[in-house]
Amino acid sequence: MLLRPCHFSILSKRTASLFARPLSTSPRCFKMSDAPNHNSKHSRGDEPHQYQASSRTDREEDQWKFRAPYKIHDKGENFPVKWKGKCHCGTIQYELSRDKPLASKYCHCTTCQRMHGAPFQWAAIFHKEDINFTRGHHDLGWYDPTAKSTTHHLPCKVQCAYCRTPIMDEGRNMILLFPTLIEGINTKEGREAFAAQCHMFYPQRVVDIKDGLPKFSRLADESDLCDEETGEVMEGTNPKEKEKKEEKKKE
Ligand SMILES: [Zn+2]
Ligand SMILES: [Zn+2]
Repeated sequence: MLLRPCHFSILSKRTASLFARPLSTSPRCFKMSDAPNHNSKHSRGDEPHQYQASSRTDREEDQWKFRAPYKIHDKGENFPVKWKGKCHCGTIQYELSRDKPLASKYCHCTTCQRMHGAPFQWAAIFHKEDINFTRGHHDLGWYDPTAKSTTHHLPCKVQCAYCRTPIMDEGRNMILLFPTLIEGINTKEGREAFAAQCHMFYPQRVVDIKDGLPKFSRLADESDLCDEETGEVMEGTNPKEKEKKEEKKKE
């Protein structure tokens, strides 16, 4: 997925099927080496495209402004605000219309470690339509960790172009938000709503987390699990493989 960023893999089968791309064996969260490079197409503007500090909407490269997750909702539009989030400097502010994420997980892959400057990433999955940017629409910066490019092609990492707070990972159909940006995340309600269901890429960890949650060796729900105590990968525990075997038995 990323077209299938590892982060989206915790989703249900139905949701996961939205991602047409096959799994890759790369440990990166974003697998888009086959994505077209739009650099040449975007180079004709007179402004840098690593961020969109412009209110222009007439060029081809401005079209993203009209699409989710960047589409600005009208005041009168039905967008029930359940949560609000912002970057450190406050330039970027957004609202969420969903009570809780579709899924939440911790990713221990080295790309997440490096890009977040943290032992692991905490990511909450939402539909692109669930977010409304109320500020900073034109102050977002993009980065594709696979191509190491800062133009906007999916999937990509999205940051505040001023203070560099990571805002989200944008996939083809979903976005991954970082709950620590959300107001009230440190309340009981916040902790419960955004509680992670599992860990992934656990063998790449820099810290042991013995919290009783499932620990996948690679993508969530489709790789072998790791032992809670030793962290060792337990061969043959991939839930997807097990499911396949059981289906075969029935036939
Ligand atoms: Zn900021
Ligand atoms: Zn990751």
